[in-house]
Amino acid sequence: MNDHVAPRRPELVCPAGTPASLRTAVDAGADAVYCGLQNATNARNFPGLNFSPDELGKSVDYAHGRGAKVLLAVNTFPPAGQFQLWKDAIGIAASVAADAIIVADMGVAAYAAREYPQLRLHLSVQAGASSPEAIRFHCEEFNVRRVVLPRILTVAEIADIHRQIPCEIEAFVFGNIGMMAEGRCSLTNYVTGVSTNMDGVCSPAADVRYEEEADGTLTTRLGSFVIDRYGCGENGGYPTICKGRYSCSAQPEPYYAFEEPRSLNLSALLPDLMRAGVTALKIEGRQRSRAYVRSVVAAFRKAVDEIMTGKQPSLTDLIALTEGHKETQGAFQSKSWR
Ligand code: SF4
Repeated sequence: MNDHVAPRRPELVCPAGTPASLRTAVDAGADAVYCGLQNATNARNFPGLNFSPDELGKSVDYAHGRGAKVLLAVNTFPPAGQFQLWKDAIGIAASVAADAIIVADMGVAAYAAREYPQLRLHLSVQAGASSPEAIRFHCEEFNVRRVVLPRILTVAEIADIHRQIPCEIEAFVFGNIGMMAEGRCSLTNYVTGVSTNMDGVCSPAADVRYEEEADGTLTTRLGSFVIDRYGCGENGGYPTICKGRYSCSAQPEPYYAFEEPRSLNLSALLPDLMRAGVTALKIEGRQRSRAYVRSVVAAFRKAVDEIMTGKQPSLTDLIALTEGHKETQGAFQSKSWR
């Protein structure tokens, strides 16, 4: 990688689970915020999260008044016969002058490109487009202007893709990370019957149980499945199937069979990502608190601004905000990460 190539100023794309979080993100220095409507059209369809059409309109006004953009996630896959909800979401995005919609499904992309050609399209990470061929297809067919890359690529692979595609690249730099290629995971369907990719929720809250035993241990369940058991004093995490501890005949002691809970943190790789052609840096966490949003957005705002003025970025310690108080650079650093 050529260290003498000056990086382009990237857009800092920040999570907004609620109107209050959106205002917090904008005030903390977000260039853009992304959010969803209160239904299955977005991949964070949790109770108490997301925006009514009226809240979305007011939030767009708030962001635009401060020079920030609003991107609406319409990034789930409509089940057969239910396409109208996704059509309505796109119509709402256009009516409130959202700056872009983030789509995953080809039918949704085709509808938006045909009916609302003025509306900018971003390809969601949920589309799982990780090759130049797949990305170019979406650009050529639906005029997609930006791809959000799956978290399965090294920085060198991102640079290679950048040279071969006609659109912008957005990459996750912080937050929750699962172990499956996005848009491909059916673990929640298997356990609860609810689809991550069509209903927009991994580990739905209605199926989550926390059971405290008489000896002080805590059992977490999703549906009828035990996801983890925590000893006295151990912090019990949200039961997510890919991050549970399981025993099997080969290894009777419970262990993280898929992946240990930890968060992505690429703050140390920001200059490399920017040189590789990433023009939008995405922070995960629409389900997280305003305090999380404020701290993480401010930390990345500072780091990006320092890079753009030629300084070494000062990396704020965000470990307290990571899952399991552990962080990883995942596949971005090494393909050996599971
Ligand atoms: S179970 Fe894990 S890999 Fe699957 S959608 Fe949920 S977080 Fe992602």
